[in-house]
Amino acid sequence: MSSKLNPSTHHREFSGLPGAIGITIGLPVLITFFALVTNESYSLQGINLDFNAIIKQIPKNQQEWISLVFDKTCWAAYLTWFFVLVLLDFVLPGVHMKGVKLRDNTQLDYKINGLAMSGCLIALLIARVYQSSDYFLPELQFIYDNQLKLTLVTTVFSFALAVFVYVLSFVPLVKPNGLGTRERILSVNGNTGNPIYDWFIGRELNPRIGSWDIKLFCELRPGLLLWFLINLSCVHNQYHKFGKVTDSLILINLLQAFYVFDGVLNEEGLLTMIDITTDGFGFMLSFGDLAWLPWSYSLQARYLSLPENSITLGRAYVAFIVAVMVIGYYIFHSSNKQKSDFRQGKLDHLNLASIKTKTGSRLLCDGWWGASQHINYLGDWLIGWAWCLPTGFQTPLTYFYVIYFGTLLIHRQTRDEAKCRAKYGKQWEEYEAKVPYKIIPYVY
Ligand code: NDP
Repeated sequence: MSSKLNPSTHHREFSGLPGAIGITIGLPVLITFFALVTNESYSLQGINLDFNAIIKQIPKNQQEWISLVFDKTCWAAYLTWFFVLVLLDFVLPGVHMKGVKLRDNTQLDYKINGLAMSGCLIALLIARVYQSSDYFLPELQFIYDNQLKLTLVTTVFSFALAVFVYVLSFVPLVKPNGLGTRERILSVNGNTGNPIYDWFIGRELNPRIGSWDIKLFCELRPGLLLWFLINLSCVHNQYHKFGKVTDSLILINLLQAFYVFDGVLNEEGLLTMIDITTDGFGFMLSFGDLAWLPWSYSLQARYLSLPENSITLGRAYVAFIVAVMVIGYYIFHSSNKQKSDFRQGKLDHLNLASIKTKTGSRLLCDGWWGASQHINYLGDWLIGWAWCLPTGFQTPLTYFYVIYFGTLLIHRQTRDEAKCRAKYGKQWEEYEAKVPYKIIPYVY
């Protein structure tokens, strides 16, 4: 379906349909694998898999599969979690901000209430700790004890949500005055006409129910905050089962909690990111936000929580890892802020070198943005190293994150380069000549 507002998509990402199907099957299998090799009955050591230990955990018949994937308590717990967060998103106070200008020249209104949401969650946790006897929180233990089932619940839920938003993308929008309909804005990447590919990549740009934005909510709430709770559940389990918590597990919890709340508290930053401005909301983001993020990013904490992987780092190594995190965060935060401030005209007095483009915007080629085209990605990647280093060097599994994230950032950089080349033409080439390195200065 092609229109002036929503032209057909002719290019394909992820190698088109085969890639989309491969990712749809492969990534859920991978997070299920993580749960099977990082649990109390079996933890991967080195690189040699104990297939017997894995097979023992896999259901033998249809009935066992159904009770694993559709465990009533896990579904009830997850649906409560998801919809209570939805309710809080509606009722908690926040500031209203406009998103970027869309193709029909409108701007969506977003409610930014990350501060209230974080405050609410932390207050609830503190209240539960006060109420508890011996700091035992059944909710956290429930998460720890049901990692495999909850991994499958979030996967199936994200699959269903992607179906829902795909179907929703065909429902005409009713104009506020009740007359006629308004065309939905589709993603420039998700209007191929192939249902599986469009479902995967995301057909509609900003699926909403009324003023509630499904994409922004999923990006920063149910998955990101669940990641924080999974990590906490690892500390909780170690403390209650073994009477102590290792410094490596505390460190990973602190480093990742900082990242989670930095994201939630600065959620307005997301409004100008590719995920919100360009990508449609389909299985890729739904699964990525709700299942992939909490279950793959928590891998290090889950690994460290097991008695055979209990690692004590000592002060010097902790200090080294904190230094890697601080340097990474500094590059990540200050470069993103510099670009954002520059684009808003807040740095005009500094006369930073830049290239004026045919669209009127300017490409900064000074400061952080003179060092490489995506210096912010380097900072983010260093943060990832700080999350993997606390796990020691017993198995490459716990370094999965830096390998995956490095690949994701290179893929993201190539996508962004293609977008900018098409958008800015000659001026992008001029920019590339001035800033030749893509992510790591003098390396790549
Ligand atoms: P960028 O913040 O690098 O933004 C790219 C866009 O900025 C371009 O499309 C272009 O948009 C504009 N731009 C590019 N170069 C310049 C320049 N020199 N001067 C001014 N504007 C420029 O990319 P992302 O949105 O991908 O990433 C944002 C942050 O999110 C990064 O720090 C990244 O590491 C992080 N991230 C984290 C993920 C995670 O899972 N933890 C996943 C993905 C990203 P325009 O069309 O406006 O010119």
